[in-house]
Amino acid sequence: MSKKTELIQSVKGTRDLLPGETGLWQRVEDEARRVFAAYNFREIRTPILEQTALFARSVGTDTDIVTKEMYTFEDRDSEALTLRPEATASVVRAYIEHGLYNEGGIHKLYYFGPMFRRERPQKGRYRQFYQIGAEVLGSDHPTIDAEVLEMLMLLLERLGLKEFKLLINSVGCAKCRPEYLKKLRHALEEVKAQLCADCQRRAHTNPLRVLDCKIEADQPVIERLPHILDHLCPECRQHFECVTTELEERGVAFEIVPRLVRGLDYYTRTTFEITSGLLGAQNALLGGGRYDGLSEMLGGPPAPGFGFAIGQDRLVLTVEESAGIELKPPLDVYVAWMGEAARGPAMRLTRELRREGVSAETSFQQVKLKKSVGLANKLRVRHTVIIGEDEVASGQYQLKDMETGEQKAVDKGQLAAAIKAKQGGTAGPAGEPSPQAE
Ligand code: AMP
Repeated sequence: MSKKTELIQSVKGTRDLLPGETGLWQRVEDEARRVFAAYNFREIRTPILEQTALFARSVGTDTDIVTKEMYTFEDRDSEALTLRPEATASVVRAYIEHGLYNEGGIHKLYYFGPMFRRERPQKGRYRQFYQIGAEVLGSDHPTIDAEVLEMLMLLLERLGLKEFKLLINSVGCAKCRPEYLKKLRHALEEVKAQLCADCQRRAHTNPLRVLDCKIEADQPVIERLPHILDHLCPECRQHFECVTTELEERGVAFEIVPRLVRGLDYYTRTTFEITSGLLGAQNALLGGGRYDGLSEMLGGPPAPGFGFAIGQDRLVLTVEESAGIELKPPLDVYVAWMGEAARGPAMRLTRELRREGVSAETSFQQVKLKKSVGLANKLRVRHTVIIGEDEVASGQYQLKDMETGEQKAVDKGQLAAAIKAKQGGTAGPAGEPSPQAE
C-alpha cells in the first residue's frame, strides 16, 4: 500500500499573502512612498541578516526581543547571526558603516520589509511580520519629532484610517534617567512583592520595563509608581514642551501617557505609539521615538535620531476595518474574440494595450460571446473589446463599457487611447481577486 505523502505547511507564525490581499498591501506601500517623498525621505534597504551583537547592543540584553524572541543561529563558520527583529539598528549601522554622516546635514530614510520575532502567534501578531519605518538621523531638534508625527498623521489620513490615538511621553536622557531609575528602584523595592514574577525580576534588571507590564493585577500598583515626566532634566523638559507645542501648532492631536516607555533600550526623550480601537488585543499600530545615543552605542559618532515603525500587517487590518480606501479592479480590459480569424488580431491588440500600460487579458481558446461577457464581468473589467470576423475585416473593433453598457466601434489603432481617456489616464494595476481568464 502506498503511503500518503505528508503535506508541508508554512512555518507557524508566518503566512502567505495571496493575490486577493496583496493589492491592499501595495496600495498602502504606494501611499507611504508618496507621503515619505513629500517630506523628502529616501529609501534605504538593509539586509535581513545581521550580526547578533547589533541587536544585543542596541535593543538591549534584558528586553523580551533579545532574551526570548530573536531567531539567532550559528552560521557554518561559527558567526552568530540573527534575522532582524527590527530595522532601526540596521539603518543606524548602515549610516555609520557608509559614513553618511560625513555628508553633513540630516538624513531622512525610510524602509519596508519583513521582521522576525518568535512571539506567540495570534491575530495581528506573527513571527514574520512587516514594518514600514522611517528614521531621521543627524539632529536632536524637537521640530523633527513634530514633523515626523505630522507626516504619520497624513499617511493614516490618506489611508482613510479611523479610530486611532497618538500617545506620547518622554523617557529622559542619560543625564536625568539614572536619577529617576534610582527613585523607581526604591519605589519598586516597597511594592515588588505585589507584582508578577517577570516584574520582580525586571525591578532589578531593567526597572523601566515594569511600566510596560500588561498583567491586569499589576496595574494598580504600577499606576502609583513615580512618573518619569516629573523627573526630567531642564533640557529634556524643554525638548518635550517644544514637541507638544509644535504638535498643537500643527493640529496633531495627542495624549500624554507617562507610562509609555516602549520595549527597546535605545530610546531617549520622545517616545510614542499610535493605537487603534479596531485592532483588539494587539492594538499598537505603530511606535517609535528618539534615540540620541544609539549611534555611539554602535561605535559611531554622535548622531541623534528619531524614527518609527508601523506594523504593516496591523495597518492593513485597520485599513480594511476602516473601509477608508477603495481599490481599483486589477484589470482594465478583456479582449473577447470569436472565430479563428480573430485570434491573431486579438493577440496583437492585447499585446498593444499592455505595451501602452493598459492591463489586459484575453482567452487562449475560442469562447462564445455570452460566456465572454460573463468572464469580463467576473474579471470586473471596465471595458471589453469584442473582435469577430466582421471587425477583423473592417479594422473597427467593438468597445463595450461594462459600467454603462454602451458599445461602439473604434478604430483598432485608437483603442488604447480611447480606453485611457475614459479612465482619466490612470490605467494600470491595482489589487483585488483576479480570476484567470480561460
Ligand atoms: P516595535 O518595533 O516593537 O516598536 O513595533 C512597532 C510596530 O510593529 C508595533 O506597533 C506593531 O504594529 C508591529 N509589530 C511588532 N511586533 C509584531 C508582531 N509580532 N506581529 C505583527 N506586528 C508586530
